[in-house]
Amino acid sequence: MKKQQEKAKGGSKKSEIFLAIFLAITIVASLVCATIFALRPEFDTLGFLLTRFVDYDSEYQTDYGKVCYGTVFGCEVLTPENIDAAVDTKTLGQQEIKYIFKHNNEVVELKQTVFVVDKTPPVITVEKEKATICLNDKIANFGLKVEDNYDGELTEKATIKYREEDQKVVIDVKDSNENLATYILPAELGDTESPVITLNGDEHISIYQNNWYSDAGATVVDNCDEVELKTTGSVNTNAVGAYEITYSATDNSGNVASVKRTVEVKQPQRASGTIYLTFDDGPSQYTARLLDILKKYNVKATFFVTGRGDDSLILREHNEGHTVALHTFSHDYAYVYQSEENFFEDLYRIQNRVKNITGVAPTLIRFPGGSSNTISANYDGGQRIMSKLVKSVQEKGFTYFDWNVSSGDAGGATTSDAVFNNVVNALKNGGSSVVLQHDIKGFSVDAVERIIQYALNRGYTFAPLTASSFTAHHGVNN
Ligand code: ZN
Repeated sequence: MKKQQEKAKGGSKKSEIFLAIFLAITIVASLVCATIFALRPEFDTLGFLLTRFVDYDSEYQTDYGKVCYGTVFGCEVLTPENIDAAVDTKTLGQQEIKYIFKHNNEVVELKQTVFVVDKTPPVITVEKEKATICLNDKIANFGLKVEDNYDGELTEKATIKYREEDQKVVIDVKDSNENLATYILPAELGDTESPVITLNGDEHISIYQNNWYSDAGATVVDNCDEVELKTTGSVNTNAVGAYEITYSATDNSGNVASVKRTVEVKQPQRASGTIYLTFDDGPSQYTARLLDILKKYNVKATFFVTGRGDDSLILREHNEGHTVALHTFSHDYAYVYQSEENFFEDLYRIQNRVKNITGVAPTLIRFPGGSSNTISANYDGGQRIMSKLVKSVQEKGFTYFDWNVSSGDAGGATTSDAVFNNVVNALKNGGSSVVLQHDIKGFSVDAVERIIQYALNRGYTFAPLTASSFTAHHGVNN
């Protein structure tokens, strides 16, 4: 038993020695390994920039920090072999760039995350050196403009506040990336600017007595307030003289603006002569209106009627003292100018119509297109029918009329103003004016009242055509 114990004691001592040796070997081996490991060359990427921030819309420069190859005892700095993407600085957000570093046959690939960010605040500019704060708390326009590199124009986003303690206007603007810009402008309280009144139309206007005048007015704007325009004065177109119209406005701070217009009513130039207003191709839906105007001025005119329109209008023309004359029933060039027979058949047809309505058979006529027309040559088979008709109508007791004042309402004139101008500019002062208009044209009828006013003001008289009136004959061309 005792022997066995000794034996056990001797075994335990042996294992202690063995453990010690094992530990020693392990430590030495570790030191050798660590040394070998430390001396083994490799990529050092600790200096590589894994993330970067660049400004929106800036010129991009590559930057990757530092990467080297070596050991703790020495490291060779590498430049990247290949950069696989450029950064688009016009796009906000995250982009990735791949860098490849090589050393002999060893390669390391590194990814850099680039954040494109907008760190630039908006730029505020103002035109005025001092702001005026309106009494109604509305900020006057002082030429504010805000521009941002990312958002563009931001003027509308600006908050403008008046800081009472130091009398300053504080303008704040944030762009959509939360960059704040502030602009401080000296300010004074109160609106010192008058409203601005702009005349519509001329400052000096001259018209003839009894002509129409309608004032074109003016417009007003104020830097602070909604202001009302007051108009005083009026023009008496019946009396020669100079008239003043005053436009004025006062803003909420008492600033007053006033602009005047002068209207001179002049004595019309005197003229004399007889005007024969003639209306062809009717009656039509405009004829009643025309008759009302003629009645208003007691002016008598002449209607060269056709087969169209209501009988009642022809009757009214007759009853109200106008001359009802003939213009052919059909007004169809192709038919009436094909032969003398056709022409007279058509002419008697309209004569009968009028006779049935008024009891009178007119003998005053106007050729469709006038006696000078050349359109008849298209239909008359070369017989020069106008040369024949001007004779034969007179042989049959008719008197034909042309015109010496054309309103142009069948051609170039398409507005009342144009008709008015064509007529009044061609009136024969001291003579007879036979005016050609068409009562089937509303705009032409609309010019008649002005023509009458113009002519009466100058001393012309109006008359209906009779068989002994000036015929205003044209030269015959076919
Ligand atoms: Zn006609």
